[in-house]
Order: sequence, then C-alpha cells, then structure tokens
Amino acid sequence: MCVVCETENIKRLPVEGHKGKLFKRRLYSVYQGKTAVVMLCYLHDIELFLSGESAFLKAHLPLAQELVTNPKKYSEGGAGDDFAF
Ligand SMILES: [Zn+2]
Repeated sequence: MCVVCETENIKRLPVEGHKGKLFKRRLYSVYQGKTAVVMLCYLHDIELFLSGESAFLKAHLPLAQELVTNPKKYSEGGAGDDFAF
C-alpha cells in the first residue's frame, strides 16, 4: 500500500489508485547518508514528481513523521540489518 495513503488514512477505490500499482521511490533528504525507500501510489508519485521532495514531505507531515519514527523500515539496506546478527 502507498505509504502516504496509509499514514493519512486515505481510502481509495482500487480504480482511483491506477489499478493499485505502486511505484518505488527514493527520498534523499530524510536520513543522513542513507536513502529512504517508499512505495507510492500513482497519484502521490505524480505529486512527488511535480512538487519535489522537500515540498512533498512538508505537505505530508504524517509521512515525514513515519519515516523519522521507523528508520529501519524505510532506510535502504535497513531491512537487511535485521539479518546481520
Ligand atoms: Zn497514495
């Protein structure tokens, strides 16, 4: 599911989400030295493209908060860290 729709509790009909297709996008300003990887729906993908990363994060503060709260879940390579012990 799209991380923005999820954090903002947006319920879309399957058709609205462009058949539910998700786009994997990287955000570069969230974590120092790491990229954040998020899945976005068609509509939020376009919004990110048009507004740019920082404006997108400002417009979606629940997303920014979610990224800061769960860095392991979203930082690239972060999931792999769990298997390193
Ligand atoms: Zn979305």
